[in-house]
Amino acid sequence: MGIIKQLPQNVANQISAGEVVERPASIVKELIENSIDAEANKIEVNISEGGREKIHVKDNGTGILPEDMEMAFCRYATSKIKNIDDIYSLFTLGFRGEALSSISSVAKIKMISRHKSKESGMEIKIIGGKIESKKPVGCQIGTEITVRDIFYNTPARYKYLKTTSTEFGHISKIVSAEAAAYPEIQFKLNHNKNNVLTTPGNGKLEDTIFAIYGEEIANNLIEVNIEDRYIKLNGYIGNTNISRASRSHELFFVNKRPILNRTATSAVEKAYKRLLDPGRYPVVFLFIDVNPILVDVNVHPAKKEVKFSRNQIIFDVISKGLRKILKNENPTPIVNVNKNNTNKNNSQPKISPEKIQQSFDQNTFLSTVNNKQLNNKNSIHDRYSSYQNKQYTNYISKKNIKNNPPYKKQVNYEDNYEYSKEHYVSEENIKFKYLGQIFNSYLTIETETGIKIIDQHNAHERILFENLFAEYNSKNNTNQALLLPVKIDLSPEEKEIVNKYKESLNKLGIVFSDFGGNTILIEEVPSLLKDKSTRNIIENLIGNLLKEGKTLNIAEQKEVMIKYLACRSAIKAGRPLNKNESIKLIKDLLTTENPYRCPHSRPIMIEISKKEIERGLGR
Ligand code: ADP
Ligand code: MG
Repeated sequence: MGIIKQLPQNVANQISAGEVVERPASIVKELIENSIDAEANKIEVNISEGGREKIHVKDNGTGILPEDMEMAFCRYATSKIKNIDDIYSLFTLGFRGEALSSISSVAKIKMISRHKSKESGMEIKIIGGKIESKKPVGCQIGTEITVRDIFYNTPARYKYLKTTSTEFGHISKIVSAEAAAYPEIQFKLNHNKNNVLTTPGNGKLEDTIFAIYGEEIANNLIEVNIEDRYIKLNGYIGNTNISRASRSHELFFVNKRPILNRTATSAVEKAYKRLLDPGRYPVVFLFIDVNPILVDVNVHPAKKEVKFSRNQIIFDVISKGLRKILKNENPTPIVNVNKNNTNKNNSQPKISPEKIQQSFDQNTFLSTVNNKQLNNKNSIHDRYSSYQNKQYTNYISKKNIKNNPPYKKQVNYEDNYEYSKEHYVSEENIKFKYLGQIFNSYLTIETETGIKIIDQHNAHERILFENLFAEYNSKNNTNQALLLPVKIDLSPEEKEIVNKYKESLNKLGIVFSDFGGNTILIEEVPSLLKDKSTRNIIENLIGNLLKEGKTLNIAEQKEVMIKYLACRSAIKAGRPLNKNESIKLIKDLLTTENPYRCPHSRPIMIEISKKEIERGLGR
């Protein structure tokens, strides 16, 4: 007798269900999409314990005929297509007829539905893919599905579920995206009986975005309206005032379906190229309408990804179209090498030398954090060493010295390098002659070995980073209550993450309270963040948490935060510096542990060696 046997129906269903039902959020997505297909204009989603205990979705759509109640749970049973060609003219979200059967094979289900043509409804209970009971009930028109005990019969899969807050994070992300895709539908999302999200359902995308993502994002959006032969783009994109540390706020909808698509993602990022700081991602709500014949939604069983034919055209329309919009919004500043040249188109404000000095002082960490120390004119060395501590030194040596030997070791200075009044000596006994600033961005010096060109922004970033790090780890660093708490609007997904890491954030010195909805109030920050852009730093932190999605490692987060702070506060390229400022910057740089690489590991200086110069000039 042969050994090959057909699997029993319920086992086969459980296996294929794995493709559709990955986690509670996948169930929520399928149920919501069914409600949308049923033309509901109110959808309520109630979740208990991140969906592992209960998922309940209720709509006011067309409802299901009593005779179809059982059929809806059969595999490949659908009312949406009749043959394969229909998927190319598809205007519903579902079509595979797999969702309900898959869900019912891995969870316990109760469905109550009343078809719009009927006077009463029907209730059906299904456990393990089998009908437990079916009876008429009184109810309103529409459908209500309760899913309990997900993966109760497949313990191996249950084990893969993440914490309640992570699972709920996935759910809220999906509900948010669907709500943004359908502003005409009112969505309500409750978690453990708390309302997390309510959209107005008034058909206005901007009001819906406001409800989901908060005021700051809603106030910084630019409308998109682009039409091409094959494709229509609508929606909103963020201006360059707002950005995120991850792709969490890049939302794409193809023919109203929230999707992931590489072409669209890279086209958008091309449009924003160099308009946002490195490592920052735009906020985008982009609706792409294409003829269904050019889209294949059948790539992924959960229909999360789509493929375009005519990829290149779609890429170009998106990247060029958005770039044009962004350019009109933000004229790129022209950096003038000659600062006396009064170019009318130059959008950079003129800065007086006093202003420059002032801002430079303000930007120098020591002057803001510890005025006392600055005023009693200690030598740089004293000031630095007072901030050194073991932890910091250990950190730096572990991190950098391995790859980049310290400056002193790298350059072998002979003592007979002649120097005159024109020369300066750094604390580390490195002699240099300051030559000048070029292109308002780079400082040039002559040293014994050649000419060095130093990037002023990267150099300052390195100095600030080391100082901030030392300060952060020193005992002086205390928490500072903010006089005016900073209000931050979060998306439901971000809110969940922030709550999850509340304790760790507290340990970092960030104390906040719930302001209701998805808004938090930052009440205390580490004193070194005082006067800094708390909002950006916190947003950056949250973005990183979302991106990493792993347990918060305090040391890593600290580093991320300080890097960001250093980068934000460092003097920018394009800013003229006078001789004294330049020399101070160079001296400070040469005292750092690694004057070659900024904290983001971009190079700080390049050298044209004396030998090269001599060779080039035929000496
Ligand atoms: P699909 O959506 O791919 O057709 P599903 O398994 O998700 O497959 O649903 C099966 C069928 O059940 C649908 O085709 C639809 O007729 C019906 N159905 C499911 N959910 C609802 C709902 N909320 N309202 C009305 N009909 C529904
Ligand atoms: Mg469906």
